[in-house]
Amino acid sequence: LGRHRDDRRQSGFTYNGVEFSQSNLNIFAGLCAVDVPEHVDMMMQALEEHGEVCTRMGAYKPRTNPYSFQGHGKGCLPWVFEKAGKHGIKVIAMEITHESHIEEIDNCLEKLGRPTGVMLQVGTRNTQNFELLKAIGRQSTYPVLLKRGFGITLNESLNAAEYLASEGNANVIFCLRGMKTEAGQPHRNMVDFAHVPAVKRLTRMPVCVDPSHSVGSREQSPDGILDVMHATAQGVVAGANMVLVDFHPKPERALVDGPQALLMNELPAYLEDIRLCHDTW
Ligand code: PEP
Repeated sequence: LGRHRDDRRQSGFTYNGVEFSQSNLNIFAGLCAVDVPEHVDMMMQALEEHGEVCTRMGAYKPRTNPYSFQGHGKGCLPWVFEKAGKHGIKVIAMEITHESHIEEIDNCLEKLGRPTGVMLQVGTRNTQNFELLKAIGRQSTYPVLLKRGFGITLNESLNAAEYLASEGNANVIFCLRGMKTEAGQPHRNMVDFAHVPAVKRLTRMPVCVDPSHSVGSREQSPDGILDVMHATAQGVVAGANMVLVDFHPKPERALVDGPQALLMNELPAYLEDIRLCHDTW
């Protein structure tokens, strides 16, 4: 991924017609956790109306508490993928927590005639799950979104990315999602988006920011701007190539992380804000 090589020219890749590189920007707004078909449909329809072709949809959820909702798993894949096809979604970022999920996703997409594409997401809790990384690295069908580990050094997280590449899959996007420390209060995590240019300098991976999981709430500044929006702007101005962000039609009914979700009627302003920040490049 560039760390151990001099050749920095080969940056980025194209997947399912969408380009990912260190010099463009893709927005993945969507549901942290898939819940009911109606909400998935509302989300994807809103994206389609705004010309967006990527989204995030969590089917397999890694939860801190074993009694919390763990995601619908493979049961929701057929209707999520069908709806994605219906609304012109080309890439869904979807976290997997076990290598068997790759086959579940692959079988389902194959059966449906591949109406959409999937980017396999490795969450912060699995950044150093080396056997999972190796298994994901051995397949080259799906690109990978690797989250930074929340309690390890940047260098250790970049080495985790190298596990994917060393097994054969170099189509990796590196995601900053904040660091776990009490010093990050009142946010859930310490926002680390100043590392965007550092990761771009150190590697040839496109860099994603996840303002939702960094900030963790819908708190707003005295001028009425949500902290998630401020954090997004910081990431985009710093040169982020992808934004992974939680939206929900009814956050109070979301099964995971509702308090940090943006509302559907905030989508137009959010996209416009990103466009303005991106224009500063
Ligand atoms: C997520 O993106 O749904 C998620 C759980 O993020 P993280 O792994 O960064 O906590």
